[in-house]
Amino acid sequence: MNFKIPHHLAALALTFIFAAPIPVVAQTPAKQPADTQRAFSFIKKSDAMLQEQARVIFNQARKVFAAHPPSATPSDERLLAFYALDSLFHDTRLDKGEAFTEFMEDTAKRVAATLAGPKPASGLRIIRFYNHGFILQTPTVTIAIDIVRGGKRVITGIEEEPYLDLELMRPIIERCDALFVSHPHNDHADLRVAKLFIEAGKPVVAPPGLWTDVSPLITHPRAADATEPIDFTVALRSLKTPLAVRVYPGHQGKVPNNLYAITTPEGKTILHSGDQTGGGADLPKLLKIREQIRVDVFLPQCWMARLPLVVEGVAPALVLTGHENEMGHTIDHRESYWQCVRRVQKLSAPVILTAWGEHVDIP
Ligand SMILES: [Zn+2]
Repeated sequence: MNFKIPHHLAALALTFIFAAPIPVVAQTPAKQPADTQRAFSFIKKSDAMLQEQARVIFNQARKVFAAHPPSATPSDERLLAFYALDSLFHDTRLDKGEAFTEFMEDTAKRVAATLAGPKPASGLRIIRFYNHGFILQTPTVTIAIDIVRGGKRVITGIEEEPYLDLELMRPIIERCDALFVSHPHNDHADLRVAKLFIEAGKPVVAPPGLWTDVSPLITHPRAADATEPIDFTVALRSLKTPLAVRVYPGHQGKVPNNLYAITTPEGKTILHSGDQTGGGADLPKLLKIREQIRVDVFLPQCWMARLPLVVEGVAPALVLTGHENEMGHTIDHRESYWQCVRRVQKLSAPVILTAWGEHVDIP
């Protein structure tokens, strides 16, 4: 197809061309993004190349998450950022490397910054930490569940190899009123974290047998052989009325696992699954939760067996999954976000996936 440009438009175009400013002096180049200011040649330095590549992708994922915040209907861009994290977390060449450590440190700093900012004016804020760690924040309370530094032997603190320096946990713990620990595994229970709570005179709620001789501030609301839910309260210095909690006595295999249903002073109830295995003798009890309490937010571990059935039994208004990419596991069981996306396809409640360091405000 031939186009003829009308004479008056051709004249206009010529006017525009000649009217355009002609640069006569070299201008200062615009500031380049940080990633392009760094080295770009890594010949014979494969490890350094992989670290730098991981940094670039971690940083880009953070940018995408900022532009595409948590949603029950995540954008393709947000999903791609999750899948980019999966690729990095499952590349064992990057385990414990500088890029991973920086991402973990960035997670802790983001959580600390959120806690240092204004509290939610109403409702509930749920802050995602590493693995299955969450912090619940309302206008009146801030409650931590299963926050750990990750890594090896943090449950005893002896010859431990944590992913995070304890100092990065201090500003987080300073803003929290209590710690709940679901079960005695390294990816959920961190002795030095618990001790920071205790040193500040803050309560720690633990599963049967964990840290029994550490401090009277550690309470164990259920016995190992308990089968029925138990209601108890936790006195917090920030509250006149103690916090109301129900513990469902569950298990991961044979290991006792506490599912805490915490009711905030503002009336929201949040149920955290710990590493509850969905089947076994606990299942009939889990399926009756909807008849006993109203759960506003359920925080299940993403790889729970029979997750759709358990979610139906809990009947929450909202699900936020946790435990994606637990780095202490071998890659067959780190559990990617993409696997989680498949698992939550058929849940009976809306689901929000979160990256470490993000938070969700619920009115
Ligand atoms: Zn776990």
